[in-house]
Amino acid sequence: MTINESNTNSRIWLSPPHMSGNEQEFIEEAFKHNWIAPLGPNVNGFENDIKTYLGQNIQVTVLSSGTAAIHLALILLGVKQDDEVICQTKTFVASVNPVKYLGAKPILVDSEEETWNLCPILLEKAIKDRINKGKKPKAIIAINLYGMPYKVQQIQEISNRYNIAVIEDSAEAFGSQVNNQKCGTFGDFSILSFNGNKIITTSGGGALISKNQTLKKKAVFLASQAKEDGIEYSHQTLGYNYRMSNISAGIGRGQMKVLDKHVALRRRNYEYYQKHLRAIKTIQFTQEPEGFYSNRWLSCVLVDSKETRDKLMNLLAKNNIEARPSWKPMHLQTLYKDAPSYLNGVSNKLYERGLCLPSGSNLSETDLKRITDLIISYFE
Ligand SMILES: *Cc1c(COP(=O)(O)O)cnc(C)c1O
Repeated sequence: MTINESNTNSRIWLSPPHMSGNEQEFIEEAFKHNWIAPLGPNVNGFENDIKTYLGQNIQVTVLSSGTAAIHLALILLGVKQDDEVICQTKTFVASVNPVKYLGAKPILVDSEEETWNLCPILLEKAIKDRINKGKKPKAIIAINLYGMPYKVQQIQEISNRYNIAVIEDSAEAFGSQVNNQKCGTFGDFSILSFNGNKIITTSGGGALISKNQTLKKKAVFLASQAKEDGIEYSHQTLGYNYRMSNISAGIGRGQMKVLDKHVALRRRNYEYYQKHLRAIKTIQFTQEPEGFYSNRWLSCVLVDSKETRDKLMNLLAKNNIEARPSWKPMHLQTLYKDAPSYLNGVSNKLYERGLCLPSGSNLSETDLKRITDLIISYFE
């Protein structure tokens, strides 16, 4: 697969990996010293790089995936069978599946229109209703969808008022900020993903961000089969094999060097689309609320109908360009259709009319022009 061919009809992907050239040096180092294991200098180095980047008093544990990070966050918050956990319905399925792994019950809450994330009004309504029905939710999973931060301040106030912990799912929002504070530092626990489609990648991987060293130690313990100290293989707790490999972490270290560059390039994509498609009234863009800074992981726009969305998607597909609908909300999934849900129609609308345009940090201006020219031709 060659991504940057300037061939006029070469494939344009939605969000492909983008290596910097710095990655191999870390991997060669790992090979040289035979650190081919889920521990080693790259693992510690990558954790330190992330901690330095996030710039807060936090601890980082790198793992095999973002999904694993959510699973461990729920366990560390004490979520058990039959507990209730609130989750934004408009998200990728990985945000909520770990609730089900634990036999706990997802409670789905809709979005507000500005950031497409958890609606504070509906969130509070859901919490009150669950309490009235006899069970206080154990945690709130809030998403920074497509890189746009959720309404951090309002969600935090509700979390404080009802004393319910927040898991900040920042899988799509590494590099985003609110009032100069980085996403990935807002939750009681936060998670990142380094899957192949994310803003930086380790081919597959994730991170759990916690508030202190004790929680990090517990996370590492659970992620390493919960093996007790000592040479014997002694186990008292159910553990997992969730630690990141030293090879993957080496890719991560190389990618950290270009994270800010990738943010700038993804933001450039969004601005390019906005500038060149501005005249088309059918296409709406999201604006960053005051103090918000999105990494614009995916350039996602709203059109007037599902029909327009599908026609545009098909036109792009015919021209070898990958575009996708926005995430199908969890309350519309067969897997979660029976979960109690608190809805206002926003996530349905965003799903039907939302279109994710190619968003790679390795898109060329020629690629961007090819995409916008096609879209403009559709509306002419
Ligand atoms: C990618 C993603 C995840 C899961 O991360 P993995 O590393 O793929 O397990 C979780 N939540 C959201 C919103 C995501 O986009």
